[in-house]
Amino acid sequence: MINSDFLHPSDQLVMIMKRIYEYGMTTMSGGNLSIKDDNGDIWITPAGIDKGGLAGDDIVRVKPDGTTEGRYKPSSELPFHRLAYEKAPRLRAVLHAHPPALVAFSMARKIPDAGILASARHVCGKIGMARYDLPGSVRLGEKIAAAFEQGCDVVMLENHGVAVGAESIYKAFLLFETLDFCARIEINARRVGKPVIQKDKGFKCRAPGGRQTVMREFVPVSHSNEEKAARRDICDLVKRAYRQRLFTGSQGTVSRRLGAGSCVITPAAVDRAYIAPEDVALIDNGMREAGKTPDDLAPLHALIYETQPHVNAIITACPPNLMAFAVTGVKFDSRTIPESYILLRNMPRLQFDALFSRREEAAKTFVKENPVALVENGCVIATGGSLINAFDRLEVGEYSAKAIVASRDVGVIAAINDMQTAEIHEAFHLD
Ligand SMILES: [Zn+2]
Repeated sequence: MINSDFLHPSDQLVMIMKRIYEYGMTTMSGGNLSIKDDNGDIWITPAGIDKGGLAGDDIVRVKPDGTTEGRYKPSSELPFHRLAYEKAPRLRAVLHAHPPALVAFSMARKIPDAGILASARHVCGKIGMARYDLPGSVRLGEKIAAAFEQGCDVVMLENHGVAVGAESIYKAFLLFETLDFCARIEINARRVGKPVIQKDKGFKCRAPGGRQTVMREFVPVSHSNEEKAARRDICDLVKRAYRQRLFTGSQGTVSRRLGAGSCVITPAAVDRAYIAPEDVALIDNGMREAGKTPDDLAPLHALIYETQPHVNAIITACPPNLMAFAVTGVKFDSRTIPESYILLRNMPRLQFDALFSRREEAAKTFVKENPVALVENGCVIATGGSLINAFDRLEVGEYSAKAIVASRDVGVIAAINDMQTAEIHEAFHLD
């Protein structure tokens, strides 16, 4: 986990700009970020500099009297950043970018609905809209600042992009990334069917500010080498899943079985990009390691291990193509290519309450012919004999889903037929 209290504002901005650019959520010249520090200074990204290779000394310091310090001119969008801090003093960071999925909504003048994904609702907060105006103008700044003043966390900018305000640049980024994921899911879902948005108030989440796992604590006597290796492997896999766009900073859970009744699992509310072995939580016979907050899906993971002896690793995630099927009710048929069928098999669908109130039923699902399941508006659950096996299933699932979504524009899918499926069963010794 990263402690931003000890990082200079310039370094925080460079870190987050790099993440935005590498994630494909801004172009070289688009987007700008700022932080307001305790002295009232605004640290902001420079105008017209390559966002792919930004360095700490490229960041511009704007003092409360309006004078600037630095090698370059501040971003041309400084007026809206300054007005946002003025009108909404709770804000300490503002992020602005033009990611394609959110720009699609901004051009259609619609607000993406975070209710499409259970875990996104609390992360995304209140979303508003600012009418179109000239970039860099005080008029545009006033419209954006007015939305922040009314308590919005996110402001969609008509025919432009999005602005996010938060108490830190890390929080602003998580919110931005999560909302962008929701927008991608909704766009894919609309290509395969009609997305269902959950309006139910009982539709809680496992993200920061959401549902917390109630588990008794225990103090481990020692940490075995097997456990240490599992912590390391989980962190490596989480970062890989993040790079592969299968996880976001706020979503994605990985666990691995240890001995009887024991497993290690990713924590709740730790940014997936910065996860470290000490953040991972040990679970033993329904209890959590003292001082750790395991992911809210820990009881479900533990129950799957108890019910299914062949499962040694579980990954839960919300990748944008597979989730198109989980939010529309459109059946995901894995008989697309042999690789998909072999790894994914039946792909059953579970109702959302399978994650919390109907866990026993959900755990029974993961027999050998159902290694992966979709949970309505929830997530994808991929199980495996090893971490890499579960990861392979998640990745193959997401790629297959992407191919199915793309095929809608090409023609009607011809599924592998029963005879061909029987042949695959025999050749690959499937159960
Ligand atoms: Zn812009």
